Amino acid sequence: MHADTAKAVPDVGPASTDDPRHAMLGLYRPSPELFVRGEGPWLETDQGQRFLDFTSGIAVTALGHGSPLVRRAIEDALECGLIHTSNLFRTPACEQLALQLVEVTFPGKVFFCNSGAEANEASLKFARRWARVDGPHSKYEIITFRGSFHGRMFGTVSITDRAAYREPFEPLVPGVQWAEVGNIESVRAVAHPDRTAAIIIEPIQGEGGVMPVPPAFLTELRAVADECGAALIFDEVQCGFSRSGRLFAYQYGDALPDMLTVAKPIAGGLPMGAVIVAPHVASAMQPGDHGTTFGGGPLVSSVARAVLCTVTDPSFIEGVQKRHERFVGALAPIVEQSSLATGVRGRGLILGLKLNAPRAADVVAAAHREGLLLVGAGPDVVRMLPPLNIDEDLLDEAAHRLARALATVEAAA
Ligand SMILES: *Cc1c(COP(=O)(O)O)cnc(C)c1O
Repeated sequence: MHADTAKAVPDVGPASTDDPRHAMLGLYRPSPELFVRGEGPWLETDQGQRFLDFTSGIAVTALGHGSPLVRRAIEDALECGLIHTSNLFRTPACEQLALQLVEVTFPGKVFFCNSGAEANEASLKFARRWARVDGPHSKYEIITFRGSFHGRMFGTVSITDRAAYREPFEPLVPGVQWAEVGNIESVRAVAHPDRTAAIIIEPIQGEGGVMPVPPAFLTELRAVADECGAALIFDEVQCGFSRSGRLFAYQYGDALPDMLTVAKPIAGGLPMGAVIVAPHVASAMQPGDHGTTFGGGPLVSSVARAVLCTVTDPSFIEGVQKRHERFVGALAPIVEQSSLATGVRGRGLILGLKLNAPRAADVVAAAHREGLLLVGAGPDVVRMLPPLNIDEDLLDEAAHRLARALATVEAAA
């Protein structure tokens, strides 16, 4: 790479005098700053203002912004000139990554795609395909949970517990049954060997308020899935790859899923998703049953291999646990003093500050003014997702900023 290489997009002025925001479909309300640079947990605006980023692009940039490791992996991958080939052809990066994923989870086979929703969509299709190998045509139902989030496509939004996300797009995918986390009778009430194809759950519910599911409940689900011949799917799109303080959050218990879906942090910020499929389900799949143009491309796969080498290292995972202790310790006195915050929940570095009123958006906005970027998880939980390799001192710094933010919100009440 030559520093003097001409830029691919020349640095000319704006294409028109219109506010460029008008070109964006209005699905988000982004804050007004323009971010132009990132380094570790810091994001910097075009005005030189620095923010401590405790969103990590919603649990994606687990190694921080501008990670030297990710950068090197991208550069190495580009050496061979391969960005994309499609799944019509083999490349070593993709196959090696599949082997690596199976080694750190359970024996099985891997399907690659490009996002969390795509991974979950694929898992639902695989579950139905497998269910009907021996089961009747009626065996297509999916059991999902209150508080869940699995994505925004038709299948995944159908199994997501947020009415505002679902209702404008009805009718959705039929055959969805709802149950309650921690209440196995609510699962048994809707589970049936002739109807249930899948049970899907996040071992730590993310969007739904950072709620760890008790490991014993996952074990109970394993038993119900076995009784019904249904596929148990763990969605670790957000909590996977050491964010929970274990490589995968399901490893806090002893239950194994039939499929594990992953995405967000897997390729250091490049889009990628994957489903790890246990052999019995995998054997029901034939060429042509499902597919993707981009999934498992050589560039993203190479980068994911590098990320995986880092986040699976036991000393890295220990580092996440240490940071958890430090951060939770720094937050405890803040909760103690606050009239709004009632506790901290979650595991590792996926943490939620629980409020006693639906004021998460106010706290996120106040923290923003203090130079700390956070994201809500429902109306009364503020989610904190720092990079997993963050400087420990910055955890204290974030806690200070959060304390000031809470104080302003409380003063305004
Ligand atoms: C973010 C998320 C998804 C959806 O992932 P996308 O990449 O946004 O499609 C699915 N499941 C969980 C648990 C998530 O947090």
